[in-house]
Amino acid sequence: MKHYSHIETSFIHGGISTDEHTGAVNVPIYQTSTYAQKNIGGEVKWEYSRTGNPTRAALESLIAELEGGDAGFAFGSGMAALTAVISLFKTGDKILISSNVYGGTYRVLDKIFSNFGITYEITDTTRESAFEKAITPDVKAVIIETPANPLLTVTDLEAIARIAHKHNLVAIADNTFMTPYLQRPLEFGFDIVVHSATKYLGGHSDVVAGLVVTSKPEHSKQIAFIQNATGGVAGPFDSFLMIRGIKTLAVRMDRHAQNAHDIAEYLQLNSDVKTVYYPGLTSFKGHDIHKKQAKNGGAMISFELTENHDIRKFFGSLKLITLAESLGGVESLVCHPASMTHASIPRDLRVKLGITDNLIRLSVGIENASDLISDIKQAIENSRI
Ligand SMILES: *Cc1c(COP(=O)(O)O)cnc(C)c1O
Repeated sequence: MKHYSHIETSFIHGGISTDEHTGAVNVPIYQTSTYAQKNIGGEVKWEYSRTGNPTRAALESLIAELEGGDAGFAFGSGMAALTAVISLFKTGDKILISSNVYGGTYRVLDKIFSNFGITYEITDTTRESAFEKAITPDVKAVIIETPANPLLTVTDLEAIARIAHKHNLVAIADNTFMTPYLQRPLEFGFDIVVHSATKYLGGHSDVVAGLVVTSKPEHSKQIAFIQNATGGVAGPFDSFLMIRGIKTLAVRMDRHAQNAHDIAEYLQLNSDVKTVYYPGLTSFKGHDIHKKQAKNGGAMISFELTENHDIRKFFGSLKLITLAESLGGVESLVCHPASMTHASIPRDLRVKLGITDNLIRLSVGIENASDLISDIKQAIENSRI
């Protein structure tokens, strides 16, 4: 029986949050591979740490509660989590993915699962009719992200779940950008949620990990089997780091989003900036749908400088914000999608998609917003041609 009703409290007290053996207020790091058994053939709760580990189990019960699911599963990376979920399907099955899913999701389908006869098709999940039209009898699932990288494209969770169920598809959402604090896809009818916990859930750029939450007991049973059979589990120390990160998720996300909002407003009024992509701005294309399904705009912003800027100079001039892959940590990070995350897409197609050479993606941290704005301002001024 829970003695609270708000998610901010769940972040701290949710799931198995204390140690049943000692009363330790933090679940210890059970750094063990195996467990002593009293007798042969007896019932054992813990037998081997690939199958189950108390620290990992605490995290798994926590994420299940946060997303409002049936069960949670922790993996060694977001990609290991996605791989376990895609392993639900078999030869002849097809998976629809939105046009801007994480590059690694596309890659594992295109280069690994294709070898086993699981196919995929890229669809525009922002348009209900286009999505429904792509559903042929072999389609068994849909994987979406909203907002999606790098243009923060918004997909309507309720609409996709509704159409998916009409056609018996498993609806899968990668909720990495939003976290369960800002958006809970299972509440809109999705079946499975996946996270790269490397990002906001870990929150401190010090762990690579992934999570899965299932809403249906049949999927829980299957994912538990796949997790143990294929073995991409999160270790006890990484599980501990995720639990520790999640405790401060609400305060971090509030500050992340406030900073992002301030920066987006600054950029919007800047004549050196051609376009600002941020779901929290009322002028943003998907704003109304996003507002319906998420608490705020999150902390990912993309923006495009006008032509009279040297993009290399912009990145070279930043003094506080770090140029790096990844996102979701306390420190602000910036990246250049055209040469980094989306470099594998041919230039013509990339530009057509809106990923121009002057596009910048910013993961807004929890530093002081005016310090961040000053850094962006001087880098923009320095990069004018
Ligand atoms: C980073 C990321 C992943 C992959 O997660 P890893 O932890 O790097 O394996 C998947 N989806 C999204 C949206 C991501 O940002």
